[in-house]
Amino acid sequence: MKSRENGNIFEISNGLSRRDVLKTALAAGAGLAISEMLGGRLFAADVVPPPSSPMPMRPFGKLDWQVSPLGFGSMRLPTKGGAAIDYSEAASMLHYAIDSGVNYVDTAYMYHGGHSESFVGKALKVNGYRDKVKLATKSPVWMVNSPSDFDKYLDEQLKRLQTDRIDCYLMHALNAGTWKNNVLKYNLLEKAEAAKKAGKIKHIGFSFHDQFSAFPPILNGYDKWDFCMIQYNYMDTETQAGEKGLKMAAEKGIGIVIMEPLLGGRLANPPPSIMDVMNSSGVKMSPVNIAFQWLWDIAPISVILSGMSTMQQVRENVVFARSAKPGSFSGADREVIAKVRAKFKERIKIPCTKCAYCMPCPQGVDIPRNFEVYNEASLYGDLAAARRKYGWFVKKEANASNCIECGACEEHCPQKIKISEEMPKVREVLMDGKDFS
Ligand code: SF4
Ligand code: SF4
Repeated sequence: MKSRENGNIFEISNGLSRRDVLKTALAAGAGLAISEMLGGRLFAADVVPPPSSPMPMRPFGKLDWQVSPLGFGSMRLPTKGGAAIDYSEAASMLHYAIDSGVNYVDTAYMYHGGHSESFVGKALKVNGYRDKVKLATKSPVWMVNSPSDFDKYLDEQLKRLQTDRIDCYLMHALNAGTWKNNVLKYNLLEKAEAAKKAGKIKHIGFSFHDQFSAFPPILNGYDKWDFCMIQYNYMDTETQAGEKGLKMAAEKGIGIVIMEPLLGGRLANPPPSIMDVMNSSGVKMSPVNIAFQWLWDIAPISVILSGMSTMQQVRENVVFARSAKPGSFSGADREVIAKVRAKFKERIKIPCTKCAYCMPCPQGVDIPRNFEVYNEASLYGDLAAARRKYGWFVKKEANASNCIECGACEEHCPQKIKISEEMPKVREVLMDGKDFS
């Protein structure tokens, strides 16, 4: 990777000792705790702007405001063991992000079992944080079975969010079915426009989860979309909307919000064979930063959402976002990504992003957790460790042996994973001691 050198950043080179890193960081006044730099996810070689460097802002389509390259996703907030959000920790993370220049906060009716919106509303209520951000949430269109349902959910969301307006309101997780059977059938776009006139929402967009063929009819089916939200990362250029969809949205000049920039976290912790590819190519950034910078290099992308779960992740991602710059990748950088992509594709068994749309399983199977451990086993090649982890972290009543292969979950999976066919393989490898087939 080429180095990013300007007056606001410095780069610590590979090969420096811990003492050198410490001295360099102290001299430059780096904003991160040194212990975090040395012991956390950051590589010593990461680009670390000093704390005073500003958050670079980007256009949000044709709208008259700009957005931070990093958005705060509220789907994977810290919890207190179970489903309950750890309010104190999560609020500290959100406030830190906003204080650092993040101005886009994303939630949805369904996140955290319906508690994410309430958390966001409460956390934004204090110290004027609400007015410092663009607040995005989503209409659960698959639950909207009459025009009045749209207003019912919107009013409930405004109440949960403790606000009089939602800046960015999305039709959530559109696919060919919900577009036809909910959005068009119940004239939800007219309802959204009426809500806009009433001042309840400011901008209308959609998030997308389907094969590419469903994307153009939705994108072109309404001429007043202000923005869209698609899954995109260096591994998913041909999945769902993909690169083709991204280009189509860019041609329309609408804002583009990116979800799953780390592919459900899998791009954050690559296995040794992939790290070897990065290191032998002279990469000087952490895997998270590489994945983010690859996206920020693409000018039409407005903001990438990161569903952060720890304060450390927020701090690191803020640092990375301060270096976001369209057009900063070279041809050599792209070659590295192509090699990493090829290596990854050799290893991932199931393209699960842990979105949990398939849940709950009527038999109690924790589908994303099962696939997560299975994929880890494949990625790292350490079956014994994966089996141990499976025994420790996947409850007996939620493991793969409970799957009756009914397929009821599959229609909800945006990745179109044949869950009923994959779950027996998970059982064989992680429970029955068999090798990957
Ligand atoms: S196929 Fe298996 S995991 Fe999916 S709903 Fe049926 S029992 Fe649950
Ligand atoms: S199986 Fe599909 S729906 Fe379930 S968590 Fe994975 S990607 Fe999401």
